[in-house]
Amino acid sequence: KDELIARSEQFETITRVAAGIAHEIKNPLTSIKGFLQLMMSGEASNGQYGDIVFSELSRIEAIVNEFMLLAKPEQEVELVDTNLIDIIHYVLALFRAQCRQGGIKVTTDFDAAIPDLPSDPKRLKQIFINVVKNAIEAMEGPGDLTVVGMYKADMDDVVIHISDSGKGIEPEKIKRIGEPFFTTKEKGTGLGMMVTTKFVESLGGTIRYKSKIDDGTTVTITLPVLHSD
Ligand code: ADP
Ligand code: MG
Repeated sequence: KDELIARSEQFETITRVAAGIAHEIKNPLTSIKGFLQLMMSGEASNGQYGDIVFSELSRIEAIVNEFMLLAKPEQEVELVDTNLIDIIHYVLALFRAQCRQGGIKVTTDFDAAIPDLPSDPKRLKQIFINVVKNAIEAMEGPGDLTVVGMYKADMDDVVIHISDSGKGIEPEKIKRIGEPFFTTKEKGTGLGMMVTTKFVESLGGTIRYKSKIDDGTTVTITLPVLHSD
């Protein structure tokens, strides 16, 4: 594609995302300011609105954190020999207590033929953290979380399926997953899958979603073993 066109499209995206960030941060800022004014004027006790102010500040913090992940320059993608299965076990361990408490049964099944791949462990961790977090949130209680990994020798790809028995998502909404600020959750940022998609692509991979309402969702991540570019 023509370099100039590519660059102007990139600029358009940046502009749109910047406008989105400004908007998403302005809302909680406006309400924090309003509540602080009430508190300072003595019309409300600090305790009354303190938790709202705190949760609005947490929201701003979450948005800024997600974008700081993205803002890291591309050079920082450091490809080292990586054992994907170790990474997935590491991420699942982070959620172990939460799953046990919530009655979520975690099952894994990895193809013994999965080779190490040149990849970026930090990005992989973030990718799987974001996907597993969504899977747990989709279940809102007891359920099954299943992670299956396969090696596709013909394509030299590793394919990972992360399945949940959660509430699922409509086909017309699936298309919007990964769009900045697309969320169906009251306290969502709609940024997790944007970061995840960008990271998967930066590693030469793809991400797909398959879902059935009230039945569950499977997220499929495909990663190349050899980088041909
Ligand atoms: P957030 O989790 O803050 O809403 P994400 O970017 O992580 O933002 O996800 C965007 C949206 O994609 C979610 O709000 C949800 O509607 C949908 N989604 C992602 N993963 C799943 C899943 N496993 N099951 C159902 N819906 C999902
Ligand atoms: Mg999320």
